[in-house]
Parts: sequence; structure tokens; C-alpha cells
Amino acid sequence: MSIEGTIFRIKKYALHDGPGIRTTVFLKGCPLACRWCHNPEGIDPEPQTMLRDTAHGTVPETVGQRIGVAELIRVIEKDQLFYDESGGGVTFSGGEPLAQPDFLEALLLACNRREIHATLDTSGFAPAAVVRRILPRVQRVLCDLKIMDAVDHRRVTGVGNTPILENLSLMAASGVPLRLRVPLIPKMTDSDANLTAIARFAVTLKTIEGIDILPFHRIGEQKYRRLGRENPMAGQLPPAAERVAAVQAMFETAGFHVGIGG
Ligand code: SF4
Repeated sequence: MSIEGTIFRIKKYALHDGPGIRTTVFLKGCPLACRWCHNPEGIDPEPQTMLRDTAHGTVPETVGQRIGVAELIRVIEKDQLFYDESGGGVTFSGGEPLAQPDFLEALLLACNRREIHATLDTSGFAPAAVVRRILPRVQRVLCDLKIMDAVDHRRVTGVGNTPILENLSLMAASGVPLRLRVPLIPKMTDSDANLTAIARFAVTLKTIEGIDILPFHRIGEQKYRRLGRENPMAGQLPPAAERVAAVQAMFETAGFHVGIGG
């Protein structure tokens, strides 16, 4: 029987989740609870009810579905022509894809057999054994690095950062191309001290191809209301363009190729 897992979205023709044209699959369930999360429907590992806004008011709908590897691979491989022509492939994102290791590994094995380029988009928070198991199956990793101070990290994400830092070193040692994703969140990740510490750590990662700055945005804030949850970032504005440019310049001066958003 095909291994099953839980996903909450499939995004076709994605352009910002790795090279080329991609299909991004969002696996449901995340061990973190970042205050700025713009996919809060991806945190609970189980399917859940979320309200949907319609012209006639709100209606409940289920977010999240169980799906077998074979069925999901059929969806992914439909666009193989686009992947081949654009240098794209599939990206497994979340939630936290490493939180469903058997499902993820089976998906990756199927992609490997079909020579579909696979990118892992992860928070980096997972047991090292899972990371070691998954790394040989992926061709690229996008990994978040949010906060270097362990206490601050726990305060705003709910977990410590030791496994993330250790896993980033594992990823770099594996030789897989790596991009670091740094969310720029006012009053949380966005301080000179934190960003300088991130740059200092990043230079130790030998396979790093660049850093993507992900400025806080308010897209998705309605999801909190639709889930019946309080939005911890209500009223928070995105960082100013000048601040984003200054952070970009800081990382570039440290020697990195820097992207914004994605
Ligand atoms: S790691 Fe990503 S998906 Fe998980 S809570 Fe944080 S922002 Fe949301």
C-alpha cells in the first residue's frame, strides 16, 4: 500500500521556491509556532476546519488532506515538461516537511527515479537522523535561519535553535547546494546584532549559494481570523524598503549573493 501523508496545498507553476518552474507541495504540521507565520493552517498536523469567505458570507471548509505517494506523484509529474524546459522541479515545503519523514522520503525516492529535481524548504528543526536520511535525496535545500540567540528564538518560535544550527552544518557538510532564508520581522529577527550574528554563522556554511531576505508581510493575516485564532502580529507593518536595502547591503558586504522575498 502506498505511504500516505497530510498536505494542505499544492501550488503549481511556482517561481520563487527554487530554480525554474516548480510545483510546491505544502506538507501539514510544524513543530514551530512562529509568531509571524503566514501559513498558520500548516502548523496543526491534522486536517482542520477553516472559514472561507464567499460572496454570501463565510462557509466552513476542511484544510488538509491525506494523500498517497502514488497519487501525489501523478500530480507532480504532470508538469515534468515545464520542469525540464525551465530547469525546475518540485519543492517540498510546509509546515515542516521533515516532520513527515517516511512520506517525504518515499516522495523523494519517486522523484529521484523520475529524475525530477527536488528542493527541500525547511525550518531546519528536525532530528539529525531525519536530516541525514533525507539529504541524499534532494538536489537543493532552502533552510530558514531566524534568530541566533537561543532564548529569543524560543520566545518567538516556541523552540530552541540548537538543532537548526547543527542541521545547517550537516547540510553544508553534505555538499547539497543551500540557500539560507532569513525572515525579516520587526522587533523579532530584525536587529543589527541578530543579522550580524547570522552572517557570521553563514560564512561557516561552505555550500551556501546565497541568502534570501523574507521581509514580514501581511498577506495571509486573514487566515488567523478564518482559523478562529488571534493574530499575534496584528497591526504590525512590514519593514521599510530602506531597512530591507540596508540589510541586503550588510549581507552583500559579508560576501553573500542576496535575494529579496521568495
Ligand atoms: S517554521 Fe514556517 S511554517 Fe512553521 S511556524 Fe514558523 S513560519 Fe510557520
